[in-house]
Amino acid sequence: MNHHHEETAEAKEIQSWKIKTAVGWILTLPILFVMYHPFVLGKSLFSEETMMVHLLIFGFPIIFFIGWETLRSGFRGLFSGYFNMDSLISLGTVIAYSTGALALFFELQNYAGIASMIMTIFVTGKYIEAKARGRATEEIKRLLELGAKKARVLRNGEEQELPIEEVLLGDIIIVKPGEKIPVDGIIVKGASSIDESMVTGESLPVERKVNDPVIGATINSDGIIHIKTSKIGKDTFLAHIIQLVEEAQGTKVPIQELADKITSKFVPAILILALLSSIAWYFFTDISTAIGIGIAVLVIACPCALGLATPIALVVGSGMGAQRGILIKNGEAIQTMKNVKTIVFDKTGTLTKGKPEATDVLTTGTLQQEELIIIAASLEKNSEHPIAQAVINLAKNKKLKEVTKFKNHRGRGIEGTIAGNHYFIGNATLMQEQKIILTNIKEKLVTLENQGKTTMIITKNKKVIGLIGVADTIKEDSKQALEQLHKQGCTTVMITGDNERTAQAIAQQVGIKHVIANVLPEHKAQHVERLQKTGMVAFVGDGINDAPALKQANVGIAMGTGTDIAIEAGDLVLAKGSLQGVVQAINLSKATFKKIKQNLFWAFAYNVIAIPLAVAGILHPVIAEIAMAASSITVVTNANLLKRKKI
Ligand code: ADP
Ligand code: MG
Repeated sequence: MNHHHEETAEAKEIQSWKIKTAVGWILTLPILFVMYHPFVLGKSLFSEETMMVHLLIFGFPIIFFIGWETLRSGFRGLFSGYFNMDSLISLGTVIAYSTGALALFFELQNYAGIASMIMTIFVTGKYIEAKARGRATEEIKRLLELGAKKARVLRNGEEQELPIEEVLLGDIIIVKPGEKIPVDGIIVKGASSIDESMVTGESLPVERKVNDPVIGATINSDGIIHIKTSKIGKDTFLAHIIQLVEEAQGTKVPIQELADKITSKFVPAILILALLSSIAWYFFTDISTAIGIGIAVLVIACPCALGLATPIALVVGSGMGAQRGILIKNGEAIQTMKNVKTIVFDKTGTLTKGKPEATDVLTTGTLQQEELIIIAASLEKNSEHPIAQAVINLAKNKKLKEVTKFKNHRGRGIEGTIAGNHYFIGNATLMQEQKIILTNIKEKLVTLENQGKTTMIITKNKKVIGLIGVADTIKEDSKQALEQLHKQGCTTVMITGDNERTAQAIAQQVGIKHVIANVLPEHKAQHVERLQKTGMVAFVGDGINDAPALKQANVGIAMGTGTDIAIEAGDLVLAKGSLQGVVQAINLSKATFKKIKQNLFWAFAYNVIAIPLAVAGILHPVIAEIAMAASSITVVTNANLLKRKKI
């Protein structure tokens, strides 16, 4: 699988820097000895000539083999006009090394040993940085390792242990207590409580029985279950999560553009500055000092830390999110989420569990309840809407009728013909459109709606024959999450296709003050657009009809329990489907963005302080390089500190 491939690529990179560092230091030690032994011993053991040749011989592999990739990328940038960070180091070390060769023929300070030291320290810095970066992606690696490697498959009545790659769609897999569930599937036999914390962040195990879905990589705690495979390979939930998080880490945070813009102007500016400093110093001192200053300016200004500041914080932040079931699909959301003032919630499936139950069945005239249920269920069987399921459940074990001329009215209801009679089921809007008079049930309608129940009016040949009330309970932690959002100063809004009274009743239960009801699916995005005139808006939703609004909002937050279309449209996905995730996402956004700013500050501050020192001749080139490497390591380490933050 390509993920394992990437993982080894990263390990390889660390390994390669490690070898370069080790060899670099082995070659640098004799250089240090030749250069500094006279200070210790009081006299030089070698002639001037021997020393010079020695520095050139040991330095050559350091600059041109160990530093090869840096030089190649640096000079390519230099010649093509797209200066990069390596350009400065390359130029600095090559000029320094050249002084060693020139010193054989002219009276000139020999910087060849310095060149070797700079390159070795640079490579060491890269190694430490790669290691720290590896630590930042630990979360993703943990996700990768989560997946089970083997599965116990039941084929031809026989149990076989197969590698996970050989499991086929539709295979029956046996999972024993304490074992990892190898793939996504549906329980066909048995029941168990399952620890889903690794994908949802939810610490309590959940009870799962026959017909319930299970997710690969979660742990079966106490029962033996047989599951039928529904997703394998890259289609599994875990594979999706990993893909989402990896993609997010590649996207850009807007503030990064600023850093990039500065870097692209910064490198040529430093080249000019280094040249001007050298010329100025040449007038007051000599050519040797001038070259030394030039080298120091070149290596100190290498803006590596600047390039690292944002991506490394994003990597750490998105890893932390993934651990808590908050998947950041779009890096921009990290910067935007903290500025969100208004949060708009869809009702069904977002604030509520989205599993409505029919609570009231009322009929008019002499019609039996039983008959009404059969008619309603026969019609609703053709609908995908969650409230349709509630009616179908009512008619369990009953024989349903055949429906012709079925038609769906999005966000309003349905219609169809049974045995020559034409029926409508839907809300008041649909009835109004069909010019159906509601007077005889109006009172009951109001009563049910005031209880927060969604009402379905059933008509036969344009006359009302009954009413079904459907209740959808709010998610346990919706209320608490909204309280926290209000405390942080957010305005919350509920938007729904349901009627005003039902919507108000549910809003009151969770503590939302602003309600926009009777909204047709195609108008949700327009309402979001209107709210955006007063500030940044986040939209939280789960349904197909929420997708345009998720896209329109500054931050689209999709419920991981929702439809694929919604998940596709969202910038953030809450795997757990809990609104607590919205609060956490805001906290995560604040913490991560703060880190990004801190990092950028340190990266800039360092250059602002160090460059004048180098120009003034106060920084020795080697000290400059040590400081440069230190700044990159600081930025990466600072980002890793984000993990300590409680969100
Ligand atoms: P929401 O915004 O709450 O997800 P929708 O826009 O999907 O709601 O639907 C709005 C309203 O349309 C529902 O509250 C219901 O009254 C009515 N409706 C939609 N589909 C059906 C259906 N299949 N049967 C009866 N009523 C329906
Ligand atoms: Mg919904």
